Amino acid sequence: MKVAILGGGQLARMMAMSGHRLGVETWVVDPKPDAPAAAVAHHVLGALDDPESWRAIADCEVATAELDHAPPEALTWLARRMPVRPGADAFAVAGDRLREKLLFRELGIATTAFAPVGSRGELEHAISQVGVPAVLKTRHEGYDGRGQRMIRAPEEASQAWQELGGEPSLLEGLVPFDREVSILAVRGPDGEVRFWSPVANHHEGGILRHSRPLAPGAEPDLEQAGQQAVAKVLEALDYVGVLAVEFFEVGGELMANEFACRVHNSGHWTEEGAETSQFENHVRAILGLPLGSTGWLGPTAMVNLIGSLPPREALLSLPNARVHLYGKTPAPGRKLGHVTLRASDDEGLDAALARLSRG
Ligand code: AMP
Repeated sequence: MKVAILGGGQLARMMAMSGHRLGVETWVVDPKPDAPAAAVAHHVLGALDDPESWRAIADCEVATAELDHAPPEALTWLARRMPVRPGADAFAVAGDRLREKLLFRELGIATTAFAPVGSRGELEHAISQVGVPAVLKTRHEGYDGRGQRMIRAPEEASQAWQELGGEPSLLEGLVPFDREVSILAVRGPDGEVRFWSPVANHHEGGILRHSRPLAPGAEPDLEQAGQQAVAKVLEALDYVGVLAVEFFEVGGELMANEFACRVHNSGHWTEEGAETSQFENHVRAILGLPLGSTGWLGPTAMVNLIGSLPPREALLSLPNARVHLYGKTPAPGRKLGHVTLRASDDEGLDAALARLSRG
């Protein structure tokens, strides 16, 4: 079985490693010679929008991507030769923050107040609709807090607009959330859906720092509401593969922020904390193989290693921890690896997290 992945970052690397255990061969397309997945998969060294790269993966059985902004022309070309899962529609929506919000609205899923902004003049209008404080976000290619500026007062609008380069954007009301939660699900080509436990996420500077799944049944209302919303998105896009929807929780209610049509950082814990990881279930789903159980194995937390790495000895001496390093050169804000901690109860997990943050 041969799978092609557009993008060769750590997500592709972990999918390739999971696929390998199932006898699946992976081809990744990435323009960087040192792409993290290149060490564990066949590497097509080329641009994602170069037909030469597409031809190199033309005999794979199925194609997927590890990024939301996969070039549409690549997806169209590949879709004439093999299933592309999830489909081009999912990428078109997930790669555009405005279309994402419009889809949530159309499906009756609560989301933040928002207004499209195509020009400096429209920004004034958007501010009068949405109010301040608000966040101006570019529609395309923003992630990990990039492509976003906070507007606390109308006078800050000009600067924010200029700093984002005057690109097509949207203005979102700033949500005074109590918690950030994501829900990950996998859907097979036959429509079977499985959910992992909801995950509580902590971000700093727009970047995910750590994730902690809730114990099954710990918050049944939240779990049910979140799963209903995710199921609607899966159905609407006739989705195949892993989908991650990020929510703000405010006063016990969920508001959808965005979704990723791929495996997601807030699902990395599943490798140690669930019966089947998001990476393996994505590979299974896109190949039409039976899905694995998403059952929870016990208290788990995932901590990202960002910007620089602690000394290897310290990392490897952590008890009840699995260390994942992506083979990337350190740089500020860059995700270099993650650690998954396990414990027999929540107190043990708190203690392990405190130990890790003390270094
Ligand atoms: P995003 O790229 O939309 O996931 O934003 C990254 C992070 O910025 C989120 O996880 C939040 O912590 C914060 N953020 C983004 N949009 C909003 C918003 N409308 N209200 C409050 N916080 C936000």
